[in-house]
Amino acid sequence: MNIQNIVAKKKFGQNFLKDQSVLAKIIEAMPKNNHKVVEIGPGLGDLTKFLVDVRSVEAFEVDTDLCKLLSSIFKKEIATKQLHINCGDVLSAWQSELVSEPYDLVANLPYYIATNIILKALADPMCKNILVMVQLEVAEKFCADAGEKVFGSLGIITQSVGTAKIIVKVPPTAFDPQPKIDSAVFLIQKHADRSDKDFEDMLRVAFSQPRKTLRKNLSAKYDKELLAEAFETLELAPTIRPHQVCTKDYHQLYKII
Ligand code: SAM
Repeated sequence: MNIQNIVAKKKFGQNFLKDQSVLAKIIEAMPKNNHKVVEIGPGLGDLTKFLVDVRSVEAFEVDTDLCKLLSSIFKKEIATKQLHINCGDVLSAWQSELVSEPYDLVANLPYYIATNIILKALADPMCKNILVMVQLEVAEKFCADAGEKVFGSLGIITQSVGTAKIIVKVPPTAFDPQPKIDSAVFLIQKHADRSDKDFEDMLRVAFSQPRKTLRKNLSAKYDKELLAEAFETLELAPTIRPHQVCTKDYHQLYKII
């Protein structure tokens, strides 16, 4: 397989990152450690080239044409075991353990499954840090803070396990082919593993109607008396909206109700 014969496949979310300054910023932002790197969707290998210079890489690529191309580009790195390529759907591979040692996820993700991948990485005890390019809107949700309009379940789940920040916003011109939307690279440094399922169920109820009050949303599923007690204890106004409550208070609320 020759690089000239490759045509980007829309169904696999293939927008190849060509801007060298963005690639450099991703490498610069990598946490300093010796963990293995998991790269999901190495594509034409533009980011992989930099990653294999600094860490050993476990890559997952669904497109068999790209797998063949990558195997020839990275012959040496594969031979020295600096790079291992798994050809197939990463979500199927993730039915069980993805890799059996601590790792950092570093990738320009396929956008159609990016949120799903990040939530899986947050839940995976082997994953220690997440440095990924996604749609800007999605990055902003993961990095949001209480009070911001886009603060919701994704921001709360992230803040429950670590800290998140946007590294760089990236325009469509950085890619070939160019996507229609803006993108961003962001970093989550994990200090714990993802919160439990019941807590996340409560968040779903809390944000079921984002413009209604938090109390109204929660009263659809939780005991009204306990709710009244919780709001009083935490000094939350009855009119407060879901996005105005901080992560710490959501955990307190969960304990009470
Ligand atoms: N890393 C490359 C770059 O930065 O130029 C490519 C990024 S492109 C946005 C997304 C990549 O993810 C593509 O190579 C695509 O084939 C791959 N991909 C899409 N769905 C996938 C899946 N389910 N499992 C593994 N790889 C996938």
